[in-house]
Amino acid sequence: MYRLKCIKCSEEYPHDKQTFICEKCQGLLEVSIDIDKVSADKDTFDKRPIGVWRYREFLPVGEGAKIITLKEGGTPLYPGENIQKKIGLDDLYIKNEGANPTGSFKDRGMTLGLTKALEFKATGVCCASTGNTSASLAAYAAKANLKCLVILPAGKIAVGKLAQAILHGAKVVAIRGNFDDALKLVRAASEKFDIYLLNSINPWRLEGQKTAAFEIIDQLGWQAPDRIIVPVGNCGNISAIWKGFKEFYNYGLIDKLPKMTGIQAEGASPVAQAFKEGKDDVVPFNNPDTIATAIRIGAPVNAPKALAAVKESGGLLETVTDEEILNAQTLLACLEGIGVEPASAASIAGLVKLTKSSEIDTSEKIVCITTGHALKDPEAIFSRFEKPIEIEPDIEELEKILD
Ligand SMILES: *Cc1c(COP(=O)(O)O)cnc(C)c1O
Ligand SMILES: [Zn+2]
Repeated sequence: MYRLKCIKCSEEYPHDKQTFICEKCQGLLEVSIDIDKVSADKDTFDKRPIGVWRYREFLPVGEGAKIITLKEGGTPLYPGENIQKKIGLDDLYIKNEGANPTGSFKDRGMTLGLTKALEFKATGVCCASTGNTSASLAAYAAKANLKCLVILPAGKIAVGKLAQAILHGAKVVAIRGNFDDALKLVRAASEKFDIYLLNSINPWRLEGQKTAAFEIIDQLGWQAPDRIIVPVGNCGNISAIWKGFKEFYNYGLIDKLPKMTGIQAEGASPVAQAFKEGKDDVVPFNNPDTIATAIRIGAPVNAPKALAAVKESGGLLETVTDEEILNAQTLLACLEGIGVEPASAASIAGLVKLTKSSEIDTSEKIVCITTGHALKDPEAIFSRFEKPIEIEPDIEELEKILD
């Protein structure tokens, strides 16, 4: 029912083939599912709690597979009433992926990733990470009882994410280099030490992440929105979400597709630049720089998949500045009560920018994805908000400072 397929030359490989890259053309692989052989409907799903495994028939795992789950997914889809009013939109929603077990959407991918790792009889797993992938992998590896190695760029990981990876018992190694260097090293380590690689070049992980699209459709009453806005770093998530929408569309569960709209931080925006220049070749940024550490990536591995998603869907890629990102983080926190890390807020920053420039029609039904929780990166908050005022426990003193 499923196999690996090259997105460039369409060469196919059996589902148990241990490769992430096409042996013929070096293209990226994706999991190709025989949608016409799937047998499931809304009632099948309705019998199960909302979450990644509600849509099991669309997930490429064997019948008797041992499923490694922390009950990921099932994240809230909030109406963005206050932001909507403030910026003049009609129909805005926020899908808050920070509500996943380890605080980011990476958990959707890792439930699949660790389930496949066990199917493939791996004894250990590894990843390079800007933080959230390692936090998630460490937790799921613990649940699966597998050893876990994570390689991080030294001094560049938000403190909450680092704490999680350490707490869950991963072997955490920091390198003097950036994320792209870490990814190169971990790919070599994966081969040399025979440990299973779970970066987003791993197409099985993206199969879990596509369920964000299924849930949005489900939560909107079995319809697709007009537009999805998502922060883009290594380009896995936007590609996965688009794949999810296409699968429900091809299966006949929805009758239209959303415009995929990817937002990159200006200092780490190679894919948005390529899109704006109408090119397919993505020129890497050698020193990517942004406060949004989760999307601080100079050479995005899944760029070809993301560019295809944006073009096929009639969407676009846009950049936002760090200032726009931080303003959006505040907007979400203070108008909607949703606390997110900076990278997450890129989708809202993009929404604001594209609304101002009239790129977005005010009547569109829009879903912004917020990708990770505020507590991941407390320093990004402390560095720009006032510290609490300290007083004696005295009502008069309190009265003086309140207006
Ligand atoms: C991983 C991550 C992203 C970027 O997702 P890609 O799949 O790499 O494009 C964005 N925001 C947060 C919080 C993340 O953890
Ligand atoms: Zn190929």
